[in-house]
Amino acid sequence: MHSIDINTVEMTLDIMKYAINRISNNDPELGHPKKEEVLKELAGDTITEKGIGGEYAFNLFKDVFAKATVPVDHPRHLAFVPAAPTKAAVLFDLVTSAASIHGAYWMTGGGGIFCENEAMKWLVSLTGLPDGAFGVFTSGGTSANLSAMIAAREAWRAQNQEHENLKALLITSNGAHSSIKSMAKVIDADIILVDDDDDDRLTGYWLKEKIKNLSPHDRKRLFAVVATGGTTNAGIIDDLAGVAQVCEEEKLWFHVDAAYGGGALAAPSVRHLFNGIERADSITIDPHKWMFSPYDCGAVIYKDLSLAKNAHSQKGAYLDIFKDEGAQGFNPADYQIQLTRRLRGLPLWFSLAMHGTAKYTEAIERGLFLAQAAAKQIEAHPNLELVREPGLSCVLFRRKGWSPDDYIDWTYTNHQAGLALVTPTKWTKNGESETISRFCFINPDTTEEDIQEILATMA
Ligand SMILES: *Cc1c(COP(=O)(O)O)cnc(C)c1O
Repeated sequence: MHSIDINTVEMTLDIMKYAINRISNNDPELGHPKKEEVLKELAGDTITEKGIGGEYAFNLFKDVFAKATVPVDHPRHLAFVPAAPTKAAVLFDLVTSAASIHGAYWMTGGGGIFCENEAMKWLVSLTGLPDGAFGVFTSGGTSANLSAMIAAREAWRAQNQEHENLKALLITSNGAHSSIKSMAKVIDADIILVDDDDDDRLTGYWLKEKIKNLSPHDRKRLFAVVATGGTTNAGIIDDLAGVAQVCEEEKLWFHVDAAYGGGALAAPSVRHLFNGIERADSITIDPHKWMFSPYDCGAVIYKDLSLAKNAHSQKGAYLDIFKDEGAQGFNPADYQIQLTRRLRGLPLWFSLAMHGTAKYTEAIERGLFLAQAAAKQIEAHPNLELVREPGLSCVLFRRKGWSPDDYIDWTYTNHQAGLALVTPTKWTKNGESETISRFCFINPDTTEEDIQEILATMA
């Protein structure tokens, strides 16, 4: 479309200026969503026969559309799992786009895939998986979980002809992420949930009990167990060693979903909580959550890559055409569900290369520290109490005497005031569900004063 690219220099400067301003702004405005009709009213028609012009469209983006979003990297955005991409990673995301590299095959993406794989080696080293384990970057935790579940199911089908005609069944815990349940639907597998122990974890003991009590038919259908390495709501890490033991005894695929918690594998203060992860068949880690990558970047890692390849490799008549020796190498398309893919690991690679892994450890430890600091402030506050000790960087707490509506009103008021985004969640214990408040710390720029200011509004 070069023929219609007018004013390229001016546009480039505008866009670079915006990008530089945005990534240097450590305290971006906490925007508010607006209804579609309101946005339409403000913007008018943007797609027209003649075009509205780059400058006008870009101004609309800056002045209207971007303001109707809530930036995830705001230091007082402590809801859901926020994100705090490094400046280096965001800048390199621009480079990734500009470089136009097709990331499915080594024959076209080789040099870029090499960089992704350097970052992947570091991720794999954090897991302690044996030599030969390796992985690939995906669009996120959902597609990483799906890719792993497909590899597991195909490996199980390949074990025994009888499995061909059985509907697959997998076991996970109450705390498992919603994507496990929805991806089980995608592969048409049934799910059984195991009760947690008193510490709200999936344990080897309860897993074993559940398997013992399955009907012979269900036992035959069972192909995998999914444990969580840091639940999204509370940062709880299942008894990974216990679950690994049962999976080995029962010859079941052991998947660890550490989409959120995986970053903490790089934090020495909590690394022991993940013991047993090195026995997994597959692991999900989202660098766009706690490894400071821009959206979107997930990762799936396999103990035995060949099992992933059996499940995912696509054969096309137009492939295998490069005789060039340099064209032979690692093909990311062989190990996850996507064919054409962006080199989503590239921003992580650049940022890791620039800063070094020690900086990552430091920034992740900072999130853990902030959770402990928040817990101390909560305990010292007369109207507040901890629901449980912080799990990784998640803190669950209650304001004594508040109803669910009080929490929602409080969230709204603080967001409207541009102070913070902290949303309520539900916590279920012994069958009883309670609405409470939750912090999730990712951003190393969040301060103890930020926490103090937020808690002061709960007086
Ligand atoms: C966020 C999350 C997911 C889903 O990841 P996406 O990147 O949003 O697709 C899966 N599992 C866990 C434990 C998560 O925290």
